[in-house]
Amino acid sequence: MNNLLEKDATHVWHPFTQMQTAEPPIPIVKGKDATLTDVNGKTYLDCNSSWWTILHGHGNNHIGNAIKDQFFELDHTVFAGVTHPKATEAAERIVNLLPEKFTKVFYSDNGSTSTEVALKMTFQYWHNQGRPKTKFLAIEGAYHGDTFGAMSVGQRDMFNAPFEALFFDVEYIPFPTESNFEAVLEIAEKLLKTEDIAGFIFEPLVQGASGMRMYDKSWLDQLIALAHKYQTITIADEVMTGFYRLGTLFAIDQLVNKPDIICMSKGVTGGVLPIGLTVTTDRIYDAFLSDEIAKGFLHGHSFTGNPLSCAAICASLDLLDQSKTKTKIKNICDWQLDYQSKLVDHPVLKSVRVTGTILAIEIKIDGSSSYFSSIRDIAYKYFIKNGLLIRPLGNVIFINPPYCITAEELAYTYDVIQSFLDTI
Ligand SMILES: *Cc1c(COP(=O)(O)O)cnc(C)c1O
Repeated sequence: MNNLLEKDATHVWHPFTQMQTAEPPIPIVKGKDATLTDVNGKTYLDCNSSWWTILHGHGNNHIGNAIKDQFFELDHTVFAGVTHPKATEAAERIVNLLPEKFTKVFYSDNGSTSTEVALKMTFQYWHNQGRPKTKFLAIEGAYHGDTFGAMSVGQRDMFNAPFEALFFDVEYIPFPTESNFEAVLEIAEKLLKTEDIAGFIFEPLVQGASGMRMYDKSWLDQLIALAHKYQTITIADEVMTGFYRLGTLFAIDQLVNKPDIICMSKGVTGGVLPIGLTVTTDRIYDAFLSDEIAKGFLHGHSFTGNPLSCAAICASLDLLDQSKTKTKIKNICDWQLDYQSKLVDHPVLKSVRVTGTILAIEIKIDGSSSYFSSIRDIAYKYFIKNGLLIRPLGNVIFINPPYCITAEELAYTYDVIQSFLDTI
């Protein structure tokens, strides 16, 4: 079976990877609950939930059965001019979990398409009314995906530098902190006042890819209020934060001011099948209603509304609704806070942050935190050796585990992290 690595090297091109220098990938052959197993039988705790997607653990029976049953009922169908029961059930259930003003779900394929759709909807919303606006507002350090629109509103860095000439105009406000918040508000208001900002897109409360950077809900509330004062469309990218990742069902549940559009993906299916949802209100939806076909939202994907993915959404929502799931989530939030309090004074740490089920540990390094700091590779290898699959973001080590992780598994994870920190 080491054949697997040979075949991989011969035919497969991996994401976010310099193929010339990368070490061979870990050949994973099995997943059950919070554990992944490689071809040699070595196990790894899936501490980052397989790229922040898996909610209920691997091989969940309820989700597996729902997908299997759906497969033999209806596996796939075109979604323009056609509908099916799981698409309508999933849309109804998602909308019912959100504040009242959310009424419509647009399906696409993944997180990047869910934000891409939100950006296109926002842009066309103004276009349809003969009031075109040319810019978006975003927060420094943002990550909204890897398609062109999503990259355009993300942090401009080495990851997307080759494409920068093709990006559209985006204004960035600094990442809000205790010391700069008043200034951030001022900068935002100045930009919004120009009335050329079509929409404001943000990762609510936690910026994921830039290092699990957490910010205060009252700041976001004020920024949303300001955007609404200038009629700017607000887009909450909940691709990472949704489905209790931050302790509440959605991050926006912690806000007083609600956005106009919410993007979902990653955990929406329990993390086992790809799909993207862009959820919006009648204010946006109605701006596309017209006798003219061209004013409709003429966007779609081959797998829009895929029945298997929609069945997985419904099954995952069944599980999220169970009190035992809520207890597990609450326990993880508590354990993370507990561990945070044990780490706060550790001499090698710059900060230890917790929001909901996410714990992020930032190691002190010379200069600013960067994805390519060598501590990342050392930590990654140390964790792998000790049976933890953790992909640090530069010098930020974080755990956002599947909700099925046990107290013992998390305690082991903390022990390994502790012993790693003590080696520095
Ligand atoms: C992962 C992520 C995306 C992109 O989702 P993909 O499914 O990887 O395309 C967008 N926004 C946020 C906040 C994310 O964490």
